[in-house]
Amino acid sequence: MKAIRRFTVRTVLPDELTALGRLAANLRWAWHAPTRAVFAAVDPRLWEAVGHDPVRLLGEVSPERLRELAGDAGFRARLDEAAADLDRYLDAPLWYQGLADGPAPPPAAIAYFSAEYGLDASLPQYSGGLGILAGDHLKSASDLGVPVIGVGLLYRHGYFSQSLSPEGWQLERYPEIDPRGLPMTRLEDGGRPVAVTVALPDHRVMRAHVWVVRVGRVPLLLLDTYQEDNEPELRGVTGRLYEGGNEQRLRQELLLGVGGLRAVRAYCARTGHPEPEVFHMNEGHAGFLGLERLREYIETAGLDFDEALEATRAGTVFTTHTPVPAGIDRFPRALVERHFSGTAALPGLPVERIMALGAETYPGGDPDVFNMAVMGMRLAQRVNGVSRLHGAVSREMFGGLWPGFDVDEVPITSITNGVHAATWVSEEALEAARSLVADPGEFDTPRGWERVAGTSGEELWRMRRVQRERLVAEARARLRASWLQRGASEAELAWVDGVLDPDVLTIGFARRVPSYKRLTLMLRDPERLTALLRHPERPVQLVIAGKAHPADEGGKRLIQEIVRFSDDPRVRDRIVFLPDYDMALAGALVRGCDVWLNNPLRPLEACGTSGMKSALNGGLNLSVRDGWWDEWFDGSNGWAIPTADGVSDPDRRDDIEAAALYDLIEEQVAPLFYERDEAGLPRRWLEMVRHTLVSLGPKVLATRMVREYVERLYRPAALSSRRLTADGQRGARELAAWKRKVRRAWPGVRIEHVEVSGRGEPPQVGGELVVRATLVLGDVDPADLCVEAALGRVGASDELVDPSYTELSPLEPQDVTWPLVRFAGTVPLDRAGACGYTVRVRPRHPLLAHPAETGLAVVPEPAAGVGSLVLR
Ligand SMILES: *Cc1c(COP(=O)(O)O)cnc(C)c1O
Repeated sequence: MKAIRRFTVRTVLPDELTALGRLAANLRWAWHAPTRAVFAAVDPRLWEAVGHDPVRLLGEVSPERLRELAGDAGFRARLDEAAADLDRYLDAPLWYQGLADGPAPPPAAIAYFSAEYGLDASLPQYSGGLGILAGDHLKSASDLGVPVIGVGLLYRHGYFSQSLSPEGWQLERYPEIDPRGLPMTRLEDGGRPVAVTVALPDHRVMRAHVWVVRVGRVPLLLLDTYQEDNEPELRGVTGRLYEGGNEQRLRQELLLGVGGLRAVRAYCARTGHPEPEVFHMNEGHAGFLGLERLREYIETAGLDFDEALEATRAGTVFTTHTPVPAGIDRFPRALVERHFSGTAALPGLPVERIMALGAETYPGGDPDVFNMAVMGMRLAQRVNGVSRLHGAVSREMFGGLWPGFDVDEVPITSITNGVHAATWVSEEALEAARSLVADPGEFDTPRGWERVAGTSGEELWRMRRVQRERLVAEARARLRASWLQRGASEAELAWVDGVLDPDVLTIGFARRVPSYKRLTLMLRDPERLTALLRHPERPVQLVIAGKAHPADEGGKRLIQEIVRFSDDPRVRDRIVFLPDYDMALAGALVRGCDVWLNNPLRPLEACGTSGMKSALNGGLNLSVRDGWWDEWFDGSNGWAIPTADGVSDPDRRDDIEAAALYDLIEEQVAPLFYERDEAGLPRRWLEMVRHTLVSLGPKVLATRMVREYVERLYRPAALSSRRLTADGQRGARELAAWKRKVRRAWPGVRIEHVEVSGRGEPPQVGGELVVRATLVLGDVDPADLCVEAALGRVGASDELVDPSYTELSPLEPQDVTWPLVRFAGTVPLDRAGACGYTVRVRPRHPLLAHPAETGLAVVPEPAAGVGSLVLR
């Protein structure tokens, strides 16, 4: 029979074992080894069969076995201890609770919106790094006691699971999930499900139920349109992740943003959870959240659009995650327009104002699209990229939104991603590390990691060997299953038992398959790759995995190329492609591989996190200097694949970079791995592993990342928000009125003339320069602006490089007559060589978060006296 619908019957647990249900209901088991051990003990064979999923385990365990356990005092003691440990974890004061309260307490709650979450392999609600990051963010927030509420969608068919055709072509399957068989409960009110509604055009209404997943201390609200009250077409809105046409995706994003905020309000009202003060949009998909907040301010506080915009921006954080144009979420303008007009309009929000928020108003922008990232940046006072390099690339990419300012001043900062150690590090290594570091706080510093790295070479190498061996066994099992599924018979598969070798240098490569990640770069010269795999003394083996988006034929062709190559009997024992890359496979790979390979087209990898997972497990990174690796590669914690950035012919660039990769493996990586001392240990390799742990350990942790979000973005956002919304939103009204006034008057601001005179000619380092600027301010009040002199090196196209700014003050008394106003100041000459200077005027207000926030600035016309001088 086809077209079956799934449902799950929940087991009734004996009274003595009710704690099992409570443990299963909190996802902390996903990263808490002792809790998993309790579930494993319920029925070890079944635990393996259900893929380490406690809810399925409890659904399938036999009543006899449960009765037996109920009478087993030893088991009950373990269970009680695990339950008590969960209670302690949920109630204990943690890092966040230790933040100084004082006059500026940290936010009471933060709502975190993301289109995908990677929390556990049993919840296929993610496609790749963005979702994994969101999952690690929630788990680390929980571990730190940060009061985050997660918001997302419950995709009934999740992201697809991947298999291969006999020809090596990617096939997709979409198993349906049943929320009742997952660790989540429905948000209800008096026994009835809470329904969130979102209006659509033509009098249609989209309805969703809300599921609550407990991620440790963090509630995650997932909206679900699969319910009878919806017309059939709308039930499928939360069907699949990142699929369907524009309209389907737009409905998903409306539900996530607008419906998501309504779900947060319903959740807080029913549970007493504090209302969020800060709203974090994890990428543009969540951007409509800002519109719903505008509506709330307009309806409930009586603000106008501009005032509501200021109030909303102050408490909003936007994170951009990709510099790849195809990765940026854009909709046809007309489609968005239709979804905010007529019966779908948000009260108080004129559609043309909404359209302006998503307009690409910079050079090269497309007037016919609505850009969700751009809207996110206009709706958030604080914006960040996800690595230092990605921050710089984003400032360049989106700089047009702040036209008066240099790229360096564009208000997009960066917080480098991190990974959740307890999710990604093998249980043995975690336990060993914890036994060496008494105070877990020391993992935040190199000191704790030095203790871990102090493990003997024998022990380190033994642990690496165990993990590699486990990966080999897992790879063989998965490869066999894949070949059976591709139509082979058991009898033909004896060779699979000889695939991979637990003593051979193992290189992993696993990620989504967009073209910039260059899955097949390693195949550039098949002869050379074969020689590396077949090297008589220093062979390498490659384990590869990755999914192509279902609509990406090009990506599927790349997968097929890899599969065809690795099907070849001459190399198939040294290179394998394992289908269905997910969190479970990722875990096995990052634990077992000696080297983690990453070769994107620089600088298109915004951060990348799989290499961080590998590093925490004692793997070494071999990567193009992109994303996080550009920032934290230090010359001896792995290898940097040289890039041919300047080469414009992509084929030639691939040739050069592939050749560099082969050279590195052949000349450095493999010799180091196979160089052994009398005891059979690769001493120098292990030194590099130790150095990796100490130099990267404290940095790559997601707890470091979440703390940065709290300190650098959430807390300042809460302060801004309080300042704007206190006292009947007085600050928001004032800031909006001020921006309107300054914007109107700004075209009247002009720099007429700049003159300088040195003190102690000729100008010398250590001397000073007196700068005098004559301005016309029109209707702008001098108190509303900042006039500053910039001094810096002169770049190739006559621009100032890396300038320093000195504020100028109005002359007292003025020696010119209105409408002229003169400002002056003294600039310290603190650098030698050829310098340039200029003067700039920008608006200033104490409620702005950043000098460039308004995007408005005036510099002199070339003739008005920008100068250069040579300092000695
Ligand atoms: C960590 C992870 C990713 C992200 O890896 P990148 O290095 O950013 O490509 C993607 N998918 C899965 C399943 C992961 O575990």
